[in-house]
Amino acid sequence: ATLERLCLHESVGTKLPETAFLEAFDDLEVRVELVGDGEPYTEADAVASFEPRPEFLEAGWVHCIRAGYDAFDTDAYEDVGVPLTNSSGIHGDTVGELAVGYMLSLARLLHTYRDRQRDREWHDPAYERPFTISGERLCVVGLGTVGQGIAKRADALGMDVVGVRRSDDPVPSVSKLYDPGALEAAVADARFVALAAPHTPATEGMIDADILDAMRSDAYLLNVARGPLVDEGALITALEAETIAGAALDVFEQEPLPASSPLWGFENVIVTPHRGSATNRYHHDIAELVRENVRRFRAGESLKNRVA
Ligand code: NAD
Repeated sequence: ATLERLCLHESVGTKLPETAFLEAFDDLEVRVELVGDGEPYTEADAVASFEPRPEFLEAGWVHCIRAGYDAFDTDAYEDVGVPLTNSSGIHGDTVGELAVGYMLSLARLLHTYRDRQRDREWHDPAYERPFTISGERLCVVGLGTVGQGIAKRADALGMDVVGVRRSDDPVPSVSKLYDPGALEAAVADARFVALAAPHTPATEGMIDADILDAMRSDAYLLNVARGPLVDEGALITALEAETIAGAALDVFEQEPLPASSPLWGFENVIVTPHRGSATNRYHHDIAELVRENVRRFRAGESLKNRVA
């Protein structure tokens, strides 16, 4: 197969600086261009994009720069036989660090002290409230790159890590695995429940009122995966009724999170603006993955991270 051009669709600008991304392909053996909407594509073109566009189906290969490719219609790619690849495999460190940051803050109240700092208040929390995460149980739902990135760090900090996984192959740092059908049992003893599964028909709404009910009243929900995994209405109800202790959320049913959302207002909820993978290295990590696939495509080898 020939590949003559790599097109970087302008929507990549949502997550990274386009010029730096372009420069990360400097000595690539094919032409690299930034393109906008309506670009004509042929089989000799590859496209890397943040958002899907109908015209990408004319290209020879399409790369979604995100790990979660739920916005792309995989059936359409399969129908026309255009390979679609994603960016899983690179977010273990970035999202893993965010999740650990959430847990340390929720346990030791960094977010609360910072809130009170705004009023120059020397805050004195209830004696019972702060705790160490060491010795606490974390349940990680979904043990791919992100889930394992979280598990490895939590284990290193002395946590007892259990997980939810479709297969029962053992995972380093995870002491016990549960089947997705046993989610209630998996979350029941955990102080933290971290979501790291993709958004699929099977995971949509998986954290519903029943699962929230099964969680401990001193437990925290962390969502670094995708908003629709959680029934947000049920989460707000649980937070209002204090049947769970709090949450840290990077992703939401609707993004940006609307100003009217009650989630903004809870002291025990940390809201971050979908920045789980946002570091100054993001464009390098993605470029490395795309460059490897350019090499494979030209060598006629199977593509890494093919999802359709
Ligand atoms: P990955 O493909 O490496 O891992 C996903 C894992 O989830 C796989 O092991 C898969 O088998 C498992 N899984 C699928 N369905 C499941 C189910 N029903 N129950 C339990 N496990 C299930 O992908 P990744 O790089 O680890 O990313 C995971 C997800 O995290 C992405 O799909 C994306 O939506 C999200 N993500 C968010 C950010 C962010 O900025 N917050 C960044 C990267 C990834």
